[in-house]
Amino acid sequence: MALQSRSPQRPDDLVVEVEEAGPGEIAEAAERARAAGAAWAATSALERSAALAAGADALAAAAGELTDLAVREVGKPVTEAAAETARGVGILRYYAQQALDPDGETYPGPEPAALLLTRRRPRGVAGLITPWNFPVAIPLWKAAPALAFGNAVLLKPSPEATAVALRLAELLAPVLLGDLFQVLPGGAGTGKAMLEEVDCLSFTGSVAVGRQVAVAATERGIPSQAEMGGLNASLVLPDADPERAAAVIAAAAMGYAGQKCTATSRAVVVGDPGPFTEALVEAVRGLAVGDPADKATVVGPVITEPARRRVVEAAAEAAGAGGRLLTGGAAGEGAGWFVAPTLVDGLDPGARLAQEEVFGPIAVVLAAADEDEAVRLANGVRYGLVGSVFTGDLDRALRLAARLDTGMIRVNAPTSGVDYLAPFGGEKDSSFGPREQGKAARDFYTSSRTITVLPRR
Ligand code: NAD
Repeated sequence: MALQSRSPQRPDDLVVEVEEAGPGEIAEAAERARAAGAAWAATSALERSAALAAGADALAAAAGELTDLAVREVGKPVTEAAAETARGVGILRYYAQQALDPDGETYPGPEPAALLLTRRRPRGVAGLITPWNFPVAIPLWKAAPALAFGNAVLLKPSPEATAVALRLAELLAPVLLGDLFQVLPGGAGTGKAMLEEVDCLSFTGSVAVGRQVAVAATERGIPSQAEMGGLNASLVLPDADPERAAAVIAAAAMGYAGQKCTATSRAVVVGDPGPFTEALVEAVRGLAVGDPADKATVVGPVITEPARRRVVEAAAEAAGAGGRLLTGGAAGEGAGWFVAPTLVDGLDPGARLAQEEVFGPIAVVLAAADEDEAVRLANGVRYGLVGSVFTGDLDRALRLAARLDTGMIRVNAPTSGVDYLAPFGGEKDSSFGPREQGKAARDFYTSSRTITVLPRR
């Protein structure tokens, strides 16, 4: 079956059309990956490090072109897309170095001359299933450590990000040789079939799909990790400067049309919500909405027509459920999938918009009488990816941060933003399995074995 990926700002612009990888092709790709991985695992860490560093150079040399392709295919504003490409280069460089880290530990043996040690070894073929919203960074933050530690990679990208994934593979092919990094275009069926062939599976996407993938991987007895949705809250304390907090939260909620797992979906204001809400509405209205290829644009289109419909319907439903539409709520003009950045307040915290991820430029403002209520509201959802606190009072920030049920906590910083050198992941329904990125990635892409060596008797 042919798969088409279209530009969200100009849906008549067909970015790529390719055949989906079918079961036969997937099995063949896996066989080739297995052979390539075995040869790769037999090289030295120095060789793997050099190859990844060369991959970073190849990506850096093509940065402009790859950025433009990402803008065109997934509608990411060009400033953010360029930063993402630069991050991809940084990720490859970082894991090029990490390939040279110690690959095990020693322990006291049963006698002084004995060696009791652990060594890490690659799992074999790593399967990656990725979403469209970070078409460069997410495939690379999985593939780079997988490759650094001696695995081959099969990447099943989101259909909406197929062109970027194929271009990434082309750019890396000259330095990775053979079939170490293969892209299998397709949708759910391709993802399911790939899962049957690989030795570990790293997923990023929605909760519903991540759960299915984790169950299927467990049934096969292979390790899996799933990074899924979020409904991230920013807590604004009474001492925070309303304008400054609003500017940061507006960008975190609406930047790239809110299509980040780390986007702010809920602003929880402690005390009088008036000044902050007013400042937030103004900040959101001030965000430049438009063509993502324009450097000034902060909010481009959402990815597809159904995605736009979900935002408009969520706004209408919230208004019907007693919420107050502060700004936005309507689809934009023109051909692309634009929708006005939308803010709602006055909602019951149990309302759907305050409980479920929409994945678009829409956020709610919730009022809390005190810090206890703010914590209850922040934690009162099934997600637990990121939480942030805005205050100048470090004691209160620390106290509050300790009570948030999220995998990442940020103080005076937007919920959005990922540091590839630190472990990344959430709590509750947002994550399953071990953390990714930073030094945590090695635990997932390798297994440890324990070796005992005794002196000859
Ligand atoms: P999605 O779950 O629809 O798809 C993710 C990937 O899974 C795609 O490649 C898709 O083709 C594939 N897939 C779909 N059904 C499958 C199945 N049954 N078996 C195997 N693979 C299948 O998500 P999306 O719309 O691409 O991305 C948006 C979601 O991703 C949001 O929920 C967002 O919060 C989440 N996300 C999370 C993170 C994170 O790190 N936590 C980062 C980015 C995006």
